[in-house]
Amino acid sequence: MQTALESALLQLDSAARHLGLDDGLHQMLATPRRSLEVAVPLRRDDGTLQVLKGYRVQHNLSRGPAKGGVRFHPDTDLDEVRALAMWMTWKCALIGIPYGGAKGGVAVDPRLLSRNELERVTRRYASEIMPIIGPEKDIPAPDVGTDEQTMAWMMDTYSTHAGYTVTGVVTGKPVSIGGSLGRGGATSRGVMYACFSALKEAGVDHRGVRVAVQGFGKVGGLAAQYLHDAGCCVVAVSDVGGGIYNPRGLDPAALLKHLRAGADTVVGYPGTDEISNAELLELDVDVLVPAALDGVIHDGNAAAIKARFIVEGANGPTTPDGDAILEDRGIVVVPDVFANAGGVAVSYFEWVQDLQAYFWSEDEVNDRLKILMERAYDEISTLAAAEGLSLRIAAQVIGVGRVADAHRTRGLYP
Ligand code: GLU
Repeated sequence: MQTALESALLQLDSAARHLGLDDGLHQMLATPRRSLEVAVPLRRDDGTLQVLKGYRVQHNLSRGPAKGGVRFHPDTDLDEVRALAMWMTWKCALIGIPYGGAKGGVAVDPRLLSRNELERVTRRYASEIMPIIGPEKDIPAPDVGTDEQTMAWMMDTYSTHAGYTVTGVVTGKPVSIGGSLGRGGATSRGVMYACFSALKEAGVDHRGVRVAVQGFGKVGGLAAQYLHDAGCCVVAVSDVGGGIYNPRGLDPAALLKHLRAGADTVVGYPGTDEISNAELLELDVDVLVPAALDGVIHDGNAAAIKARFIVEGANGPTTPDGDAILEDRGIVVVPDVFANAGGVAVSYFEWVQDLQAYFWSEDEVNDRLKILMERAYDEISTLAAAEGLSLRIAAQVIGVGRVADAHRTRGLYP
């Protein structure tokens, strides 16, 4: 199976070939601008000391400051963070926001830490990467295993060192300290808009379409709820504990409430059958939303997928080998760099509001997000139709093309 970095580089190769990029520029775009690896020593609650590995990679800075999330996950490593940073570069260029791409992470399982330990890891990590972050340099945000509380601690750590409050250093913060209304559900709302754009183009009414969502977390949980509220029938969802299925449809809002009340997995929810994560991917549904981790759809299972549309809520859920099989089978893949871009889009809105110290209503945020997503889909589908490309390659060609253009226009120093 291809790793995230192999996948990202192969996708770049396809876009570079299509754009006719020269080898030198191709190589520049394949190489991260800066990769920082830091030690994150953690004093555990029992007094012992554990040293974790942390990373921050700035893939590209040609179009503006670097932007991207911070992931806390035991499997996080430098190569994965490099791939994720590269995807952020194309994502920001594709949706037309003035950032380069970055990503960060700490190799740790946040579920095994107490709240105090989590705070100490976050603050130490923030202080270790402090030399390269800042509102004009690189702006972190939540990703897998991190949330608005993580961002609050990062913002506080940075501000305490600066000696004044710097709200614009991170996005995805709580609204009470400069976060944006609508940021919490932004990635999920964007997934819904992406899904509806693809269905509309195919002439499919979204009401009643059967949906399966892998990853009932920050992105997948609310995506399931928004899709359900808009009239879709969400028949299956899953998390790390496994999946649940009800052919008559689930009520995602009730399920989210059940989890907030203390359940640690969706499995066992009354009135549902238990299925595995692998089975969920192969269910007979109209729309599959992989919203968990990368590499879950690959050459080993792509032939068994029955959904007609795959809307990638996660970053990198489909490997290039898997993609080729899906394309041959006529399955429409709405690619990650577009489908999950709602999060970074509203991060951009948050940063703009912080810099202006002037805040928008939730309707204004949601309306602007909808316009941005619909415009990006039009650009991708127009190029795909004109040049006979998959939506993935069309999205990559637009994103990579804009970054290549910025490089050419700025020229090489010295
Ligand atoms: N982690 C999200 C992503 O992968 C959001 C990044 C951001 O808002 O900067 O797009």
